This record gives sequence, C-alpha cells and structure tokens, in this order.
Amino acid sequence: MTEIKQYLDNLENALKEKYPDQKEYLQAVAEFMGTIEPFLMKNPIYVEKNILELLLIPERLIEFRIPWMNDRGEWKVNTGYRVQYNSALGPYKGGMRFHPTVNQSIMKFLAFEQIFKNSLTSLPIGGGKGGSDFDPKGKSDGEIMRFCQSLMQELQKYIGPNTDVPAGDIGVGGREIGYLFGEYKRLNGYQSGVLTGKPLAYWGSLARTEATGYGLVYFVQHLLNDQKETLKDKKVLVSGSGNVAIYAIQKAQELGAKVYGCSDSSGYVIDPDGIDLELVRDIKEVNRERINVYLTQRPKAKFYEGKNIWEATIAYDIALPCATQNEITPELAKIMVKNGVKVVAEGANMPTTLEALEVLNDNQIIYCPGKASNAGGVAVSALEMAQNAQRLPWTFEKVDQELNQIMKNIYETCRDTSLAYLSKEDLVAGANMAGFEKVAKAMLSQGLV
Ligand code: GLU
Repeated sequence: MTEIKQYLDNLENALKEKYPDQKEYLQAVAEFMGTIEPFLMKNPIYVEKNILELLLIPERLIEFRIPWMNDRGEWKVNTGYRVQYNSALGPYKGGMRFHPTVNQSIMKFLAFEQIFKNSLTSLPIGGGKGGSDFDPKGKSDGEIMRFCQSLMQELQKYIGPNTDVPAGDIGVGGREIGYLFGEYKRLNGYQSGVLTGKPLAYWGSLARTEATGYGLVYFVQHLLNDQKETLKDKKVLVSGSGNVAIYAIQKAQELGAKVYGCSDSSGYVIDPDGIDLELVRDIKEVNRERINVYLTQRPKAKFYEGKNIWEATIAYDIALPCATQNEITPELAKIMVKNGVKVVAEGANMPTTLEALEVLNDNQIIYCPGKASNAGGVAVSALEMAQNAQRLPWTFEKVDQELNQIMKNIYETCRDTSLAYLSKEDLVAGANMAGFEKVAKAMLSQGLV
C-alpha cells in the first residue's frame, strides 16, 4: 500500500468512526477517495498540506427547528438544514430538498458532491446544500407557504447573494422558491440574487427549469459524438417524472431518441409507442397525480405498480436515472446489463450504489456520474446569479447555448483528466480529480482559513 493510499484510508476510517450511521455521506466520500490517489501521487503538495482533511469537514453545518401550522390549526415541527461545505471557489451554492428522508447524512452527501459539481462548471460557486424532512406530499398550498416562510425566518440569517445562494431540489420548485423569496424580502429587502430557480417575473433565468434535464442530455450527446454516434433512434429509459426527468425526456426526444419509460415512487410506465411527454407533464406538474393515470389516455402502455423501473426487461441503449439516490442496486444493474444498456448517465445525485457501479464497470458500461452529468442545473443557477448581478436578463437561446458549452467542457474535462492520470477513460475518476484540483488549488492559495 502506498503512503498516500494509507493517508486516504486513515481519513476515511476516521470519518467512519465518527459518523457510523451516515451511510450516504460515507458512500459519497468513499467514491471520491477511491479515485483520487493517482492525482495526489502527481500532486503531493495537497497531501503535504493536508488539504483533504480540511476538505472533508464542512465549514459550517446549520440545523434548526421549523415550526408551522397546518390547515386544521395544529402546530407541527420539522428539522431544517443548511450545510455550507466549502467556499473556496465562491459563495456556497446548492439546492434545498424537502423530503421525509432528509437527515444530516443525506445533506452532507449532497453538499459534498456539490463542491466538485460546482467546481466542474468552471463558474465561481462553492458547495452547499440544505433542506428539511418536511413531506410536501398532500400538503395544501397554504401549508407549503407557511412552512417556507417559517423555514426562511431562520435560514435568512445565514444566506445572501455573496455568502450562500440556495435553489431548488427534490420537493422544491418555482412555487417554493417564490414563497422563500417573499419571506426573505420581507425580512431583508429586495435582493434578487439570494436564491436561484426564481420565477421569471422576478429575475429568474430563462432555461433554468429545463437546465438539469437538458444539460444531462447534452452531456450524453457530446459523449456519443466522441464515438461518432448520435442520440437518433437510441432507446432510452428514464427514472422519475419530476423536473429533471421531464426535461431530459423532452431534449432526448427532440434529438431523435425513443424514450420508452419513466416512473414515480408508485411504480413505472412503459409505453411501446414512446412516452407522451405532454401527458406526463399534465399528470405530474399540473394535477400532481400518480403516474398510473397515464394509462387512462394511452391504453397500449403498461403500469408496473410498486416496481423500480430498472427492473424492466426491455432492450434499451441509454439509462437516465433521474429519481433519487441509490435507486440502482447491483441486482438492478445486472438486469440493466442484460437489457443491453450501453450508457448510464445520472440526472439524480448518486442514484447508483458503489456495488452497482462495480457491476457496470465490470461490463464496460459507460457511466456518467451525476456530479458531472447533472451539473447543468447549478450551472444555469450561476448564470442566473450573473444576470441578477448584471441586472440584465439573457435570452433563452443565450442561456441554452452557454449550458451546452458548459456540458461539453465538463465532459471533455472529465475525459481528458482521466486519460492524463489513468491512461483510460473513467468519467468518475476524471470528475473527482478535475473537480478537486480547482478547489484544492484555491484552498491552498487562500491560506489556512
Ligand atoms: N439541486 C440542484 C443540484 O443538485 C441545483 C442546485 C442549484 O441550482 O443551486 O445540483
């Protein structure tokens, strides 16, 4: 074992001892630590200066109480979080997630990943994440509003256009950002740049809603172009049917791919004629219903209740997991391989377990880690910050073009970095090494802070 490997193992073991129950966080750290050694061998300064130990500890972790009143006049309480992980490259930047599974481990894994994702965009943003274990499912609009207002009462103390700029994530879209923004404004005055993913009426960016899904497909497009291939007639399956999935399906279809399935937490739908996206949008975005409603209008489609879409046994080329973390287990990865999948590109954050990734690697499946392939959302958030600071809105075409270029750069950076350090293409290692390099350089040059 090399000295550097020993150093990495010691750091990882210390974290395991300190946070034995933080499964997702330890998983994200393990994925990173498992790939960074070749980079450190050539750049030992970061080991000498112990940058990794510094990097592993969040600069600040805020946990707070969110009291709110439901429509029956009952008092309720949830826990809120903001992890301000690393500000070497800019103000903390990252979404807010509202989901009952949210806890410290999930927040820390997401914030940790965000550091490298944001670094890969080459835009001036540090890494952060936040959210609450609040479950928005079945809540009225009034309840959502009161919850967002109460959350912001506390969060406003820690954020600002130059310190920390939250945005959306699972369970947080334009409506929630609107209520959060309104409360921040009431308390601190108008600051357009304090949140991103804002509605267009008050300085949101065109193409922000589409950005994560579009960016994911652009990433895949650049990867395929590299192999003299295109998306035309490629068969695609997408998990999820939220914001990321919807715009990934839209862009994939626009580029000639055939998308046969999508899902939600109740099960998945396969449509042999290709997914009718307008119908999915109506069901999920307008009526906020279950995906099985799809069958009422598309009799040839099939709904698989309570099943994970990666259990599907149909032939397809590209898998776009856009639902949530750890949705692809090794068993499911084996089914995907049997189905003939060639590319797995993550729209969600860490949807593939480490063991599933091994299965994909063993079978030479091209795997695009979320911190690279889903960076389009946060990249356009940074463009929204630029527009807010400039006090000028950009056109849809301009933002979309920038997004496409950023995704191309990210793909090429990951490819070239892995080629340089490993003499082979490995997008996970490339993303980790390239993402880390910028952050580490910045940390070092800023001194011990
Ligand atoms: N939640 C998104 C992500 O995981 C976007 C964050 C942002 O726009 O700040 O990257």
